[in-house]
Amino acid sequence: MSASLDEFAEQKLAALKQRNLLRTLIETERLGPVEVLRGGKRLISFSCNDYLNLSQHQAIKAAAVEATEKYGVGSGASRLVTGNHPLFAELEAKLAKLKGAEAACVFGSGYLANTGIVPALAGADDMVAVDELSHACIFAGARLTGGAVHVFRHNDTGHLREILAAHRRDHPRALIVTDGVFSMDGDLAPIGELADIAAEHDAWLMTDDAHGIGVVGGGRGSSYVNGGQGRVPLQMGTLSKAVGGYGGYLCASRAVIGLIRTRCRTLIYSTGLPPATVAAAIAALELIESDPDYAALPLTKAKAFTRALGLPEAESPIVPIVLGDSERTLAAARLLEDEGFLVVPIRPPTVPDGTARLRVTFTAAHGDEDIQRLAGIIRARILDEAA
Ligand SMILES: *Cc1c(COP(=O)(O)O)cnc(C)c1O
Repeated sequence: MSASLDEFAEQKLAALKQRNLLRTLIETERLGPVEVLRGGKRLISFSCNDYLNLSQHQAIKAAAVEATEKYGVGSGASRLVTGNHPLFAELEAKLAKLKGAEAACVFGSGYLANTGIVPALAGADDMVAVDELSHACIFAGARLTGGAVHVFRHNDTGHLREILAAHRRDHPRALIVTDGVFSMDGDLAPIGELADIAAEHDAWLMTDDAHGIGVVGGGRGSSYVNGGQGRVPLQMGTLSKAVGGYGGYLCASRAVIGLIRTRCRTLIYSTGLPPATVAAAIAALELIESDPDYAALPLTKAKAFTRALGLPEAESPIVPIVLGDSERTLAAARLLEDEGFLVVPIRPPTVPDGTARLRVTFTAAHGDEDIQRLAGIIRARILDEAA
């Protein structure tokens, strides 16, 4: 049909393959809270973001089925048209309460939330300061503003202060955006100090709590640790990780949420989430609120793992084992797969060049013996080999 198009794609693919950066989709069937089936083999997954195993929870599945029966499979349109089924208001009230905010707005996904919220609040005259290790969709949102995008060194508040001192006065508005829990590193942002800096410079602080809600800060997320308590005016997050389902959200003041509902393109021009997904999130949040001990389990498991390996203590359920080289990381993942563990290798451009890694994630249901066996294999056969 178009020879130049296929040639373009083939050359690109060949070049990526040569650099060990070719990505493929591997069929994976979830068999339960921690087990998956891949290539006919049962594996214990240490790669899911389903930290509380709620995607497999019986009562939550039942809530999704019931909502489907009652309201149908899809929402039928954008929420601004006819897609705003009755479950949204209930979910938004729950999110706002959990996050200590006046109001909330639910989006189709976390990616849609970030690429919609940032350009709805900042424009071509404005500036956005972003932590260098923030998620790709924060950068995508920042670029969509058409304004000045300044990248500060990871968790380096001194660098952020320098940037604001040099540039803040040139712009009517400034936004500071960061992951609350860094998705590939598992460390936390210094939320309290970022809130101080934001106040000093009249900048608006926005945190992405994709990996924090349900698992840190007693389930309330990363804006409730490191001195952040109630000081983040823009709390964004997803329903796709610990909450177990799908979707994104922003918790903020009534005025901000009103503006987002009116002006945010990824809300206005995209179909509302299906009733089943919204009902599942409501049921999941009820569980998270009612059982903080359960919400604490993934971090407890991650700490057992970092202790076993003599690594710095885990701050979240995400623990990176940085190996550097993509080929070596792929080989390590293959070795673990032979031992019955799924630990997906993470390579550039998802992480910076030269920092390919195993990203190990812990969930409430992981067995302590499996965690110790995984740590033992990583210590003896992956890390020692480097020494
Ligand atoms: C996963 C993730 C997102 C995207 O959320 P989805 O709901 O999966 O689209 C956004 N930000 C961070 C930090 C994430 O880890």
